[in-house]
Amino acid sequence: MKLFADDAAEPGRPYWWDDGAPLPDLPSSPPATADVVIVGAGFTGLSAAIACADEGARVVVIDAGVPGEGASTRNGGMFGAHPRLPFETMVKRFGETAARGVYEEAQAAFDHARGLIEREQIACDFKVTGRIQLAWTRAQFEAQKQLVANIKAVADFDMVTIGRDELAREIGTKRYFGAILFPGHAALHPRKFHDGLMDAALRRGVTVVRECPVEAVTREGNAFLARTASGEIRAGKAIMATNGYTVGRFGWFRRRVFPLPSYIIATQPLPRDLLQELAPGKRMMVETRARHSYFRLSPDETRILFGGRASIRQIAPAAAASRLHETMRDIWPALDGVKLTHCWSGNTGYSFGHMPQVGERDGVVYAMGFSGSGVAVAPYLGMKAGYRALGDPCGETAYAHTTLGARPYYFGGRPFFLDIADHWYRWVVDARENAAARRDAG
Ligand SMILES: Cc1cc2nc3c(=O)[nH]c(=O)nc-3n(C[C@H](O)[C@H](O)[C@H](O)COP(=O)(O)OP(=O)(O)OC[C@H]3O[C@@H](n4cnc5c(N)ncnc54)[C@H](O)[C@@H]3O)c2cc1C
Repeated sequence: MKLFADDAAEPGRPYWWDDGAPLPDLPSSPPATADVVIVGAGFTGLSAAIACADEGARVVVIDAGVPGEGASTRNGGMFGAHPRLPFETMVKRFGETAARGVYEEAQAAFDHARGLIEREQIACDFKVTGRIQLAWTRAQFEAQKQLVANIKAVADFDMVTIGRDELAREIGTKRYFGAILFPGHAALHPRKFHDGLMDAALRRGVTVVRECPVEAVTREGNAFLARTASGEIRAGKAIMATNGYTVGRFGWFRRRVFPLPSYIIATQPLPRDLLQELAPGKRMMVETRARHSYFRLSPDETRILFGGRASIRQIAPAAAASRLHETMRDIWPALDGVKLTHCWSGNTGYSFGHMPQVGERDGVVYAMGFSGSGVAVAPYLGMKAGYRALGDPCGETAYAHTTLGARPYYFGGRPFFLDIADHWYRWVVDARENAAARRDAG
């Protein structure tokens, strides 16, 4: 079958980019000095810049590429800040105080990112849609019930489980055995969100430098020197906001936050009644499968955007597209024959503990390791990093008490261990989960 529509975008180009504002005129070399220099102009770097500029600092943000073309304009636009790990796992990894703190801070993170959108009047199709996390097997649904009970014991989270029968209201497939519903979660258009953050930073007098990789940041007395091929900049404070796209001599970060790819396809526009049949709940949808898929309607509710780990290694987006299309058809056989207009990929910045951290390395403040959940959390932790760099107590956060650990023999760059993991997930974990799902379906 021909996978792509005749008018499909060039493979690799995100659906979101069809809709953004033209990039403003930005310099490609940095000024000589600033109060704060920020490396990386995605959600994290721009929101750190906004916080610092609001405190009166002269801020320069430098990006290696076109600002936003890291993960921030490639993601699924699913907006929620509940921690990605169950409470007990967080306690084991980071200790009880950190775990409790992160859970308690989740609502503040959500409110901050939402408040930024409202305050800056960012027209980014923000909508409270709710999110459902769909259980692939009966055992995974039982685990979800336990998870909700455990979380409710430590934090006041708006989340409920819904059984298989009720699921028909949400999604037109019999593939799943139940779900957790997060009614307060939301959706946005990531490119428009990034455009709005950029605009808010520029309005505050922040200088954003494009296509200017920072080679290194070194300490010089009380200041920091950031070196680029087109000049150096001296600043009183420095912040790293490079997550899964870190380039340059930043070995400490590259060893700890590795690029794990994720892939998304967009279908051609679909008939309204078909979409109503497939996704009557119009929620953001994610799965419990280890190699989970995540999917949603486009903001204009004309098509399906379907993402997942078609591979956990880097493969060509067009190759990923056929795998994602197959997974999508397995959930919704009615989409057999439906053509695609877009396929693209992006690097999630994964940490070995699966959680982000705000910290300091040789005086350089950083916020990274979002591990695939950063649309709401990255702007929040960017803001925290900004305040922390300024020495302001508003920079305090429980995310300072998570960890960014390294692993032996990984020195950054291509994560070789994902080659092995890819086979393990594809041939062992998938097979196990699918066998259980078939058994459960009787
Ligand atoms: C396909 C995909 C789907 C996702 N879906 C979701 C979702 O639905 N919901 C959700 O919550 N999260 C999602 N995420 C995660 C989310 O997009 C990220 O967590 C978030 O965008 C991270 O923002 P950031 O600013 O930290 O990093 P980025 O946006 O990646 O920005 C980092 C920037 O640093 C720059 N940089 C790197 N090194 C240097 C250097 N040496 N000098 C100068 N600049 C440098 C890069 O050029 C880049 O622009 C998804 C991610 C991907 C890839």
